[in-house]
Amino acid sequence: MSTLSRRDFAKFIAAGAAAGAAIGAPSVWAQGRTRGRVVVIGGGWGGATAAKKIRQMDRAIQVTLVEPSASFVTCPFSNYVIAGWRQINQITHNYNALASRHGVTVVRDTAQAIDGAAKRVRLAGGRTLNYDKLIVAPGIDFRWGAIEGYDERASEKMPHAWKAGPQTLLLRRQLEAMADGGLVIMTVPANPFRCPPGPYERAAQIAYYLKQRKPRSKILILDAKDAFSKQGLFQDGWQSQYPGMIEWVPLSRDGAVTKVMPNELTVETQLGEKHRGAVVNVIPPQFAGRIARDSGLANASGWCPVNPATFESTQAQNVHVIGDATIAGAMPKSGFAANSQGKLAALAVVNALNARPHAAPTFVNTCYSLIAPEYGISVADVFRVTDAGIVAAPNAGGVSPRQADAAFRRSEAQYALGWYASMTQDIWGA
Ligand SMILES: Cc1cc2nc3c(=O)[nH]c(=O)nc-3n(C[C@H](O)[C@H](O)[C@H](O)COP(=O)(O)OP(=O)(O)OC[C@H]3O[C@@H](n4cnc5c(N)ncnc54)[C@H](O)[C@@H]3O)c2cc1C
Repeated sequence: MSTLSRRDFAKFIAAGAAAGAAIGAPSVWAQGRTRGRVVVIGGGWGGATAAKKIRQMDRAIQVTLVEPSASFVTCPFSNYVIAGWRQINQITHNYNALASRHGVTVVRDTAQAIDGAAKRVRLAGGRTLNYDKLIVAPGIDFRWGAIEGYDERASEKMPHAWKAGPQTLLLRRQLEAMADGGLVIMTVPANPFRCPPGPYERAAQIAYYLKQRKPRSKILILDAKDAFSKQGLFQDGWQSQYPGMIEWVPLSRDGAVTKVMPNELTVETQLGEKHRGAVVNVIPPQFAGRIARDSGLANASGWCPVNPATFESTQAQNVHVIGDATIAGAMPKSGFAANSQGKLAALAVVNALNARPHAAPTFVNTCYSLIAPEYGISVADVFRVTDAGIVAAPNAGGVSPRQADAAFRRSEAQYALGWYASMTQDIWGA
């Protein structure tokens, strides 16, 4: 049996303290040996990444992750649950490895208020957490009422399914219950919003289901913009796999929906045209998750400005904001981007608590979308920090070729599966 070195012993004490300490107050044993206390709000793509990576880089830092749910259902791959070829348990992840393997203290609660001056977070359950550094990763909330008539109650009739979980299953059930020949309406917001290619992948996945089970049905996409991510690739895929099934109506052809009547499953556009569906999927306009807005981390846009080299808030010291809630220049609101930003914020925090310098990062984002289970398309980008913020590096990315053959599309679908497995392992795995 080897003897513990002084350094290992200090680490051991700190790790034990992080796993077992009373919330917000390091145990007497750990005091003086703990490099600092980090609180992370939100255990999704950004927050869970940051919590784990800090502990992987420096076990002497105590990390407390606040998340209301016992498990997390990913939006990535939730369109395949709606299509019926993935199950919700295949996209559900828990926090066991973060807690037991990485020594993250996972607190099942909701952050209610941030006191930046006192460096404290108050939880809905009444407890208070003290921090040296805070990482805020609450994702998005919906702007209820921005589309007249669309509030949380209306989403029970016209699901958004833009936060994965019960809403995903509701949309799936509605499609299953729909008769052949029914019209599925999707409404899509203007930029910026979570997952720019997501609605168009969803249309393809719904079409995949309808083609097999209800082939006389149609999908109408009413869009509040005139162009979208991977547009050429999506439209080619829709045409080749589901000819005549998907119609896309852009803003310039009166695609923006301004009002909904949930009881009649009817939506109304800017120019007053009404469309009635058998199933209506409303993806509403969004802004940063509530805790970020309530704590003054968001600006008038509803999103949170950050220093692009560290993702520290420009509105509050010692507070980093990551993921969909941020204004991140050219980076999309994607799980991949949130994961990259989680790693960056983790590094910035570890560097700061160790009094080490921090260098500006380079980011990557790859986004796969599946037109069908064996038909994948992708976009990749490299992002650099410049005086103008985060910009896409020229000639360093692009979309997959439009003229690719079936074997190429099958490979891209395989890469998508590999991407999901490695990302979720990186974030929630042991
Ligand atoms: C249909 C769909 C498909 C998608 N597909 C892809 C894809 O293929 N690839 C990709 O990269 N991205 C994809 N995305 C986007 C991706 O889901 C988001 O970009 C990503 O989840 C953002 O991570 P986040 O950490 O900012 O927020 P989230 O992952 O949503 O995590 C936020 C967490 O914060 C918690 N929280 C909120 N408020 C509080 C509070 N006050 N206290 C404590 N906890 C709180 C929430 O419970 C949640 O767990 C898709 C999105 C959708 C809707």
